[in-house]
Amino acid sequence: MSEEIKTNEVPAAAATAAARPERPARPFAKKRFESRRKVCKVCAEKIDNVDYKNFQFVKSFTMESGKILSRRITGTCAKHQRQITKAIKRDRNLAILPYSLPKK
Ligand SMILES: [Zn+2]
Repeated sequence: MSEEIKTNEVPAAAATAAARPERPARPFAKKRFESRRKVCKVCAEKIDNVDYKNFQFVKSFTMESGKILSRRITGTCAKHQRQITKAIKRDRNLAILPYSLPKK
């Protein structure tokens, strides 16, 4: 009986040890409370309407690959995100911005 329990216990302990490799305790714990607040870039610069002709600005809301960055990442408000997506899609159609670029 006692042997059976021992054989059951040893692999369980090994599994928990394997499941917990040494890793830094909460690497983002410090950053979490620093400057987490995101501000809409369009609101901050007091732009009423996002213009597709201002492609330098519009381009800052795209990834290097040409993808449109999400609101979660950039922190833009819903209204301006809608305008930005429209502007980016217009610029793509006019071949000002790329639809996609190959990964390096
Ligand atoms: Zn905004």
